[in-house]
Amino acid sequence: MSYRADITIIGAGVIGLAIASQVTREGREVYVLEKRETFGQEQSSRNSEVIHAGIYYERDSLKTKMCLEGNGLLYELCEKNGIAYKKCGKIIVATNDIEAEELEKLYRRGNDNGVPLKMLSRREISQLEPNIRGTTAFFSPTTGIVDSYALMRYLIGKARDNGTQIAYKAKVIGIEKVLGEYKVKVEDLSGDFSFMTRVVINCAGFYSDKVAEMVGINIGEANYKLHWCKGEYYSVSGGRNKLINRLIYPVPMGISVGVHVCLDVSWRLRLGPLFYYVNEISYKVDDSRKKAFLDSSIMKTLPFMEPADLEPETSGVMAMLQGEGEGFRDFIIRHEYDRGFPGFINLIGIESPGLTSSPAIARYVSHLVNELLES
Ligand SMILES: Cc1cc2nc3c(=O)[nH]c(=O)nc-3n(C[C@H](O)[C@H](O)[C@H](O)COP(=O)(O)OP(=O)(O)OC[C@H]3O[C@@H](n4cnc5c(N)ncnc54)[C@H](O)[C@@H]3O)c2cc1C
Repeated sequence: MSYRADITIIGAGVIGLAIASQVTREGREVYVLEKRETFGQEQSSRNSEVIHAGIYYERDSLKTKMCLEGNGLLYELCEKNGIAYKKCGKIIVATNDIEAEELEKLYRRGNDNGVPLKMLSRREISQLEPNIRGTTAFFSPTTGIVDSYALMRYLIGKARDNGTQIAYKAKVIGIEKVLGEYKVKVEDLSGDFSFMTRVVINCAGFYSDKVAEMVGINIGEANYKLHWCKGEYYSVSGGRNKLINRLIYPVPMGISVGVHVCLDVSWRLRLGPLFYYVNEISYKVDDSRKKAFLDSSIMKTLPFMEPADLEPETSGVMAMLQGEGEGFRDFIIRHEYDRGFPGFINLIGIESPGLTSSPAIARYVSHLVNELLES
């Protein structure tokens, strides 16, 4: 690694890699710094791998805009580059009158967002999914699943082919603005070193608030402080995956889209994630929350499921801007010139639907970077 860069990306999760694959081009020196031993070891490899359709959030939010654009771009990317995916669709199911009312609202929101959706009668529900139960439901044909590891492998290959240099076990421990550029201090196996860069793109996931703080942004005033929310998954045994033809979701009634049927591209069935806020990152899962799984709304839609089919499996932790009991917060994707940091771009709170949005976020950030470097 030579010690001067045009663009430095902090974090090799799906967001940092998608951005690297877009911003790298001839004549630009682009570095990705990743503190772990390889790419995608945090949120990007511990999620539901769902390609979301853009149903859940307000039309004007970045979450909706990025998700809608990302949905189309991601299917195209997968199709062209042999990345495993399934456009299997999903059904959101209500099991009582209160949920039915919320389902109706969600359907209207999805429609407002321009997402193709179809309301289903009871008869249509049982035609599509003979083994599930529900009073009303709607179908989202553009929801799907992607192999997130294969996606990241493709992105890293593209970034490297274009000339990006990726350093693992390289933790950013300080950033200082010097004469309109940035001095980045890195800790690696050989000790500490620093280099200068014109642009910094902060994609540090759980620690993106801390990275923003390093350069001198007051994260309290900016409202950038992150909260961690752990989501647990339970595996489902007994060949139950053969009883389901697509993703099945409950009507969301809390902080997330709710414990749902997760299927991966090889049709492995799990239930989850069951979310709760935590103060430290640990991926340990035991069966202490099994009762909450059994009581979750999704279980009412899956009458064939027996308690003994469910075993604690994995978990993921999401970096969220909204704390416990707080309302909606949007993605933060921001060039910080007006805070006195031209060339510093923050991506904070890129939680779900971040995986789906990754190609659209990369395009968005690439425009910001082009304006910066070519103006
Ligand atoms: C349980 C769960 C379920 C989800 N389900 C879905 C879904 O179905 N569909 C969907 O679209 N999205 C989903 N998401 C959201 C999606 O996973 C995230 O939005 C996405 O992975 C965020 O990627 P990232 O690159 O920003 O973060 P990360 O993957 O966390 O990457 C950040 C990287 O930065 C590195 N880093 C941090 N600090 C430093 C430092 N100081 N120096 C160097 N490197 C550093 C980390 O090691 C890490 O590799 C889910 C998330 C979770 C947790």
